[in-house]
Amino acid sequence: MDTDRLEKIAEPLLSWFKDNARDLPWRREPLPYYVWVSEIMLQQTRVEAVKPFFARFIDALPDIAALASCEEERLLKLWEGLGYYNRVRNMQKAAKIVEEQYHGRLPDCYEELQKLPGIGSYTAGAISSIAYGKAESAVDGNVLRVVSRITGCEEDVMKQSVRRKFETSLRTVMPKDKPGTFNQALMELGATVCLPNGAPECHKCPVQAICYAREHGCQLLLPVKAVKKERRVEPRTVLVIRDSEHALIQKRPSKGLLASLYELPNLEGRLMVDEVLQYVEHCGFSPIRIMELPPAKHIFSHIEWHMTGYMVLVEDVEEIGIEKTAEQVSHRRSLFIQPQQTEQEYPIPAAFAAYTKYLSIKLGQEKYRETGEI
Ligand code: SF4
Repeated sequence: MDTDRLEKIAEPLLSWFKDNARDLPWRREPLPYYVWVSEIMLQQTRVEAVKPFFARFIDALPDIAALASCEEERLLKLWEGLGYYNRVRNMQKAAKIVEEQYHGRLPDCYEELQKLPGIGSYTAGAISSIAYGKAESAVDGNVLRVVSRITGCEEDVMKQSVRRKFETSLRTVMPKDKPGTFNQALMELGATVCLPNGAPECHKCPVQAICYAREHGCQLLLPVKAVKKERRVEPRTVLVIRDSEHALIQKRPSKGLLASLYELPNLEGRLMVDEVLQYVEHCGFSPIRIMELPPAKHIFSHIEWHMTGYMVLVEDVEEIGIEKTAEQVSHRRSLFIQPQQTEQEYPIPAAFAAYTKYLSIKLGQEKYRETGEI
């Protein structure tokens, strides 16, 4: 790994960024809270998709005090479509600590920031450099890729020790009067020029004359990443149970995967028609018609759901006790509601998007796609 090459990147990088920086809402006014929210959102979603989420989130929760006091269901609804719901839960825990211990102001110190839930070295580096002008590096996936290509690093970039080495080298070479701009320029280069999955656009790159990978033609071999463990495949059967006006949704347990979110009823395994009908009857409904829906897949970080779906039309429900019966069978809080209510009130994760569409429920990103915001 040739870290000397990094010593020459600041000037060409900054002058390129001056002309090529994208106009992003959180860049216009880089308040610490805005930098924090945008960086957490960007950890899982591309920039264009984050824009409407960011605008809606900041509109609803304009500052740390509002985030700290937001009711959980509303918070999860605001995050719906972004996935990784523990990230927003951690943000709220951190916001409460900031309110109690830091008078509502995010600390500017890199080390202090990392004591807050959900803030690791990358986010701490981004907040302290972009919002507070501190000379700290912020190494995300884009930066890992760019730096490993420029320096020809053949070590596994998923190792903490390699990330630390990159952080230290970048801290040394960054201009001390513009650390935030330098960090953003590196991230921008990774996001728009030094692309993953396919050839980077080296002919447009401001550091092409310095880059090891370009010189040796090994761009596609870098960065080196250890092969990830395979995901566990879980077959599931998802049910759209509805009468002429209502549909059944349930609340997931408060711990584990998709904790406290709402879902369509679903069961482990690939159930056959008669097993589904039996289950629906146990829940207290009288099925009229059943239709198999196309299979769907949803990928979590460690698990893949391979889903089979059924739409079950049931006789109109008059009695009030139906939710209780469904609850006893599923051991989950059950609501038999008008589907459109879920768009306003109940957060449903994207894992169910392939089936919520049969109730004309639009989730997170779909809503924005419809309005042309993504
Ligand atoms: Fe990436 Fe190519 Fe630029 Fe090197 S020259 S940093 S490989 S885009």
